Amino acid sequence: MIAIPRPCRTVRPLRHTAAAMTLLLVLGQMPMAIAQTAMAQGRAAEPGQTGTAQPPATAAPVQDQPTAEAPGIGVEGPLMQGSLNLGRVPKGWTVTVDGTPAQVDTSGRFVFAIGRDAARVQIAARASHGATLERVVTVAARDWAIERVDGLPPPKVTPDPELDDRLRHERSLIVNARAASSDEATGFDVVTRGFRLPVEGRISGVFGSQRVLNGTPRSPHRGLDLAAAEGTPVMAPAAGKVVLVMPDLWFTGGTIIIDHGQGVSSIFAHLSETLVPPGQVVKAGDPVGRVGMTGRATGPHLHWGVFWHDIAVDPAQMVPALADRIDPMRPRPEPKPQPQPQVTPRS
Ligand SMILES: [Zn+2]
Repeated sequence: MIAIPRPCRTVRPLRHTAAAMTLLLVLGQMPMAIAQTAMAQGRAAEPGQTGTAQPPATAAPVQDQPTAEAPGIGVEGPLMQGSLNLGRVPKGWTVTVDGTPAQVDTSGRFVFAIGRDAARVQIAARASHGATLERVVTVAARDWAIERVDGLPPPKVTPDPELDDRLRHERSLIVNARAASSDEATGFDVVTRGFRLPVEGRISGVFGSQRVLNGTPRSPHRGLDLAAAEGTPVMAPAAGKVVLVMPDLWFTGGTIIIDHGQGVSSIFAHLSETLVPPGQVVKAGDPVGRVGMTGRATGPHLHWGVFWHDIAVDPAQMVPALADRIDPMRPRPEPKPQPQPQVTPRS
């Protein structure tokens, strides 16, 4: 396997450093304005830091006067396209991110996603007494790979119209499963500490790439493809509850969705076998299925998608073990092993 070197422009997510959790812990011990400025500059503010705090460059005008009870909206994380991040508001406030309600815990923390094509996200917070805060986070654009997948049976590229009802039903199963998000704290843990790799395999498809299937441009890839031998066990990448188990959906074949809490979920596709029933609570590392090539796939691999509600994010950026294998700003699949040419298993 050939490792792709990380160029120095790489933005290293805070969660990959010990500062990730520390930063949130110290937020309550220092003026929020200083904390926000430090976060906007990509560094952790030190407790006891003094000086004139300037508003963060990414903050929109605050609509009310900050007070001790309503100091502002803090954000922390990679803040790049296809990422999961943490936010903080005063206790008891509610939050929407681009209109999607976030789950705010009792301390005011919440998880939010930045989509693949987002240039900015708008975070709006509201107190029960009616006060509001707003913050706009601007996002650096990433460079997306183009991936060509050839050799798919033509009906798998353009489904027969007779399949419309089935595909609509299967889509609703997935959407409904994602909508049932618990308040489990694992959703915070995966942002700050990351996921385990669900299966050891060669990266055969990266998040966000523009797919060209049999020469026809399709929607971007919303997951990470890991090629491995058929039957290889797939492990839960973090704790959660199994909320969907389907043996053979048209696109995704054998499919499992795990709810990690806080709106964060994993989907596993193309499984040859599912090993857990719906409702099962799993720990990180528990086997949940086996690698296969069911659904729309050209070879045995695991398609792993990570979502915040219905927004897809980049799984690879949340696996510390992969941090040195994919450049988040210029992702591309690892080179195929040489010399034996083969069909790259992905979809
Ligand atoms: Zn895939």
